[in-house]
Amino acid sequence: GVAEVIVQPVPLQRLDTLLTPDRIDRLEAYVAAARRLLEGRVVWNVNSTARGGGVAEMLHTLVAYAAGTGVDIRWLVVGGEPEFFAVTKRIHNRLHGVPGDAGRLDATARATYDATLARQREEVVARVQPRDVVLLHDPQTAGLARALRERGALVVWRCHVGLDEHNEWTREAWGFLRELVEPAQACIFSRESFAPDWVDRRWLRVIPPSLDPFSPKNTDLDPGEVEALVHREGLVVEGAPLPTDRRAVLQVSRWDRLKDMAGVLDAFAEHLDELPPDVHLVLAGPATDGVADDPEAAAVLAECREQWHSLPAQVRDRSHLVCVPMDDLDDNARVVNALQRWSTVVVQKSLAEGFGLTVTEPMWKGRPVVASAVGGIRDQVEDGVSGVLLDDPRDGAALVAALSGLLGDADRRREMGRAAHLRVRDHYLADRHLIQYAELFAQLVG
Ligand code: UDP
Repeated sequence: GVAEVIVQPVPLQRLDTLLTPDRIDRLEAYVAAARRLLEGRVVWNVNSTARGGGVAEMLHTLVAYAAGTGVDIRWLVVGGEPEFFAVTKRIHNRLHGVPGDAGRLDATARATYDATLARQREEVVARVQPRDVVLLHDPQTAGLARALRERGALVVWRCHVGLDEHNEWTREAWGFLRELVEPAQACIFSRESFAPDWVDRRWLRVIPPSLDPFSPKNTDLDPGEVEALVHREGLVVEGAPLPTDRRAVLQVSRWDRLKDMAGVLDAFAEHLDELPPDVHLVLAGPATDGVADDPEAAAVLAECREQWHSLPAQVRDRSHLVCVPMDDLDDNARVVNALQRWSTVVVQKSLAEGFGLTVTEPMWKGRPVVASAVGGIRDQVEDGVSGVLLDDPRDGAALVAALSGLLGDADRRREMGRAAHLRVRDHYLADRHLIQYAELFAQLVG
């Protein structure tokens, strides 16, 4: 059924130390206007998981800040059976341009999708009052748009995924979603190119995610804490415990084929000789019972483990698979935080990506990143300045060449890390994000 996630409000003033006075003034003006506008209305967010993945990550912090401004903002999570999530994962994969599995997005898939949401629609609709604003996140919740609109709510559908160049798979997924999404008044994408052509351009907004510097995922840690968190017992599921006197290259991701953990491991194994001898590889993801709406995680992790076992001993000695427990979210976040700070270079070799928080997070921490030039990552990183972009996400040799260049040049790493931090400060903090929402709400309500 439907569950509400309770988020403690956080005062927006917490951001003040990071922003220029102009930016603070601008934010306060928008917030004051939005508060007046939303008086007597609730802003609802609806998605399908409270933890694991970028959407949950972002909602935890953005809802907290919005609540801190005095806006009545709430967060609902819809549930579903494995069959429902198999269909939505298929949609998710296809919006990224790959089939994912052999299933179809046909009438049977539609029936499975509808059946799960039908049971929860009434519950959601009963909580929402006419005039409320509802933000539906991703394909899992698109099927609620029509009923909420009929209820008299202002409905926005926000899609966090996408592919720049549409193909047969994206077209199939958009064909499935079209009639579900069309009742929404406005749509939000992380990049304009992700939107199918039938989305009304007057009501299309491009709003990338943001990062919270004060969340346990990003807050400063002293070196002792970093060491303790990284070397905690039980984190490594394949390979030796993380070394203490070596450098690390890290990728953090959900266990999802589009993140291509396997490709990172392959590239590392194949080109090991091209990397300095003190460099280890760490691939870290959530313990797989953790992410409710991702049915493929366990299989992808199992494949990675098998692949690791098939590698020569000299590769296994220098590569480590890590599973971060998900039972305590703050603790999970602190471990990821520590891994990102502890690493010398961070990789994101995604084959497709709506927007990669796993790129923004190490950038904030001043880490140089090497990432595929796909989707939102192309906006996040300026190639050669705030990180390195790889034109072909499948090219393992290019990945290792970029890594080896950075690992051999401490000055360049430092400069790139500094530029990366500034890039996040200037473009990806909550003030920009909240202002964009406030602008949209003003247009919707006004
Ligand atoms: N993440 C985490 N623990 C893990 C793996 C990932 O907390 O073991 C977080 C990661 O730090 C980031 C989010 O999950 O905040 C992933 O977001 P991103 O936008 O990179 O990709 P998505 O998972 O949404 O496709």
